Amino acid sequence: MKLSQIFELIDGEYLSIGIDHDIAHLMTDSRKAFDLESGLFFAIDGLHHDGHSFIPELIKAGFQNFVVEKEIEAFSEKINIIKVASSVRALQAIAEAKRALFNKHVVAITGSNGKTIIKEWLAQMLSEKQNICKSPKSFNSQIGVPLSVWPLSDAHDLGIFETGISEPGEMTSLKRVIQPTHGILTNIGSAHEQYFTSIEQKLDEKLILFEAIDQLYYCNDNPLINEGIGRMKKPPKHKTSWGFNSEADLQVAKKEGSFFILKSKTETFTLKLHSVNETYVENIMHCICFAYFNGWSPSEIQKGIDALRPIKMRLELKKGINQTYIIDDTYNNDLAGLEIALDFLSQQKHYPQKSLILSDIPQSAPKESTYARVAELVQEKDITQLYAIGSELADFKSLFPSSTKFYPTTEDFLQHSTDNFEKEVVLIKGARSFGFEQIAKQLTERIHRTVLEIDLDAVTHNLNVYRQQLKADTKLLIMVKALAYGSGGSEIAHLLQFHKVDYLGVAYVDEAVQLRKAGINLPIMVINPSEEDLPNLVTYNIEPEIYSFAQLKVFSEFYMKKGIELKGHFTINTGMNRLGFDPEDLEALVNEIKHLPHVKVQSLYTHLAASDEAEHKSFSLQQLQTFKAYAEKVEQQLGIKTIKHALNSAGIVAYSEYQFDMVRLGIGLYGIEPSGNLQHELKSISTLKTVISQIRNVKKGETIGYGRKGKVTKNMRIATIAIGYADGFSRIFSNGNGEVMLNGQMAKVIGNVCMDMTMIDISNIEAEEGDTVIIFGEKPTISDLAKKAKTIPYEILTNVSDRVKRVYFAE
Ligand SMILES: *Cc1c(COP(=O)(O)O)cnc(C)c1O
Repeated sequence: MKLSQIFELIDGEYLSIGIDHDIAHLMTDSRKAFDLESGLFFAIDGLHHDGHSFIPELIKAGFQNFVVEKEIEAFSEKINIIKVASSVRALQAIAEAKRALFNKHVVAITGSNGKTIIKEWLAQMLSEKQNICKSPKSFNSQIGVPLSVWPLSDAHDLGIFETGISEPGEMTSLKRVIQPTHGILTNIGSAHEQYFTSIEQKLDEKLILFEAIDQLYYCNDNPLINEGIGRMKKPPKHKTSWGFNSEADLQVAKKEGSFFILKSKTETFTLKLHSVNETYVENIMHCICFAYFNGWSPSEIQKGIDALRPIKMRLELKKGINQTYIIDDTYNNDLAGLEIALDFLSQQKHYPQKSLILSDIPQSAPKESTYARVAELVQEKDITQLYAIGSELADFKSLFPSSTKFYPTTEDFLQHSTDNFEKEVVLIKGARSFGFEQIAKQLTERIHRTVLEIDLDAVTHNLNVYRQQLKADTKLLIMVKALAYGSGGSEIAHLLQFHKVDYLGVAYVDEAVQLRKAGINLPIMVINPSEEDLPNLVTYNIEPEIYSFAQLKVFSEFYMKKGIELKGHFTINTGMNRLGFDPEDLEALVNEIKHLPHVKVQSLYTHLAASDEAEHKSFSLQQLQTFKAYAEKVEQQLGIKTIKHALNSAGIVAYSEYQFDMVRLGIGLYGIEPSGNLQHELKSISTLKTVISQIRNVKKGETIGYGRKGKVTKNMRIATIAIGYADGFSRIFSNGNGEVMLNGQMAKVIGNVCMDMTMIDISNIEAEEGDTVIIFGEKPTISDLAKKAKTIPYEILTNVSDRVKRVYFAE
């Protein structure tokens, strides 16, 4: 579509007009805006970010086409800026027009649960025969749906899109965009209840999607749903149901273990499912119902469900061999998924070297333009080395960089290449038939059975929660000391760099040096630097805290000799009595600094002693007042303005009027709010997990573990789990004090915690060897453990030992 055609669709005005480009991509995320001439960026004023604020940066990068809601200056004549009343509405109008050009079937999926799984499974099954356009991941919102529908073209045989709503009124616009011919209603649950007056109202809103479509598939076991469909003013032309009752068009007549005997009007047949778990059955039955009534034979359906792979809803970053990081995305390969994975790859700044191991993209038509786009992506995302596996990629050799290595099959690649990877980030992205999980296995470090999983999206979420607490011009320093409170220093720092925080803080210079070596270039403040650290401070451009006259003397002489400016963060002690200048020293300090022209007061700060305890409120206020008075005096006497800061996580919540110029966020980012007031808004970021190594039955009268402390009072089932105090599971959790989560139930520790292992009582829990055990996460929480250990969450977090592997993931 030409930009001028788009202009006709969206009822806006040109603020600036340049070349009438062909628009190939729509985008709303400035980080993903790369097509300088063929991309169209929609500036959306959202909850956390205002898209308009990224426009100057995008223009500087050469990006040319924008849809905005506010007055924006173009700075250059090449730029196209169209102003509209609502960017989201404009985005929808364009997708709607694109959809109208497609005259084959489009399936829309909605319901409370299972939308994404059903969509992905259906696409996996159908893609054996058809070329499918589907929503990436769970792009089902007012913005996600139009972005999903936009790529729909003549090359596709079918569209499958999911929708989600959270408020009344939203479905009408989504229906306009998707214009479904077919629909699947997954179920109706209690999520998003708050904006609806009743379940019925919510269901009616969802059913708007299916008004007057050709064909609806649904489960007729729930009377609520049957009544809802009955209420529709413009019902679907045809309805087909599955269910456990005899009214259903496809009835589950009988279950024998995982064998399901299904009955339609014309035949009875048996399928073997892969689980009898209720959710699995519900999701897979929707897919079976759809396939069956679209002409698939039972044996084709069986083949289809046997070939389904579990859907990974998120990308994971794992540590690999030779200090590599591995992103393992080996279950499917299409363009939309490749783009998402490449975005995730380009956010990983651990090493400049980025490799992509890629298979052919099956069922992609037309091939020419698909592989041309792949080649473009390889270039845009700065892939340093491409490994191309499969005959189609080889056919298009000329499109790819000359350094590309081609292999006919996965086996060829495995024989030749896996030892060469070192200090790089590797994305493994392959279609199912290529069996890339073998590559992932060879490149990933063997995981010690205990892992700490870090949810990078939760970190981002928490960051945004705190950003909302800040005034517009308050800077943000994040404390990443002690390996980001145990969560992994460089990984968290990279995320923070990506989100453009202003400063990082660490306790010791070694920690800062590690961050610099890992590619972090944000300013870093070090709280406790010492004389031996001086060369590193200078070499790595790290800014020290200055807390005493003696230290100032030594440091300033060193910097003077080197002929460079010393940017110091001067601490004022207002009651913590840890490090810092006392208020009465400040006059002398000012006089000293006046004689040291190469010393710059980069910031002035103090630290609260009890910001998380309401009973010490008057003390905290007094600290803040003292700091304010003295810091302002120092500024006045030196005739300068510096960055003044005082608040840590709890302080940000309790004393928000004292943000001064910057705040220092620590534990809150990691999901714990010490004062408790903001806890409900934060997400838990880390889950410490291990597995059951062995299960045994023990008889009444026996004992468990060292010192025979675990007394067996009745016949019991005991599981030995692969975590001990050397991993950070303190001995204080021995003998029933500690509890872990196993298959949804709590299990108590029995006997003493050993160095590497612990025994738990699972007499009342169904479990097998190899099952996952949660030490902390959503439940039990870090705070639960802290209470039992009579300590604070900070200590639980930072105690997880180095030998526990960290695994990072993001949606
Ligand atoms: C650790 C630390 C912080 C962060 O404290 P939290 O309670 O984790 O938010 C802030 N300032 C200084 C000086 C610190 O040492």
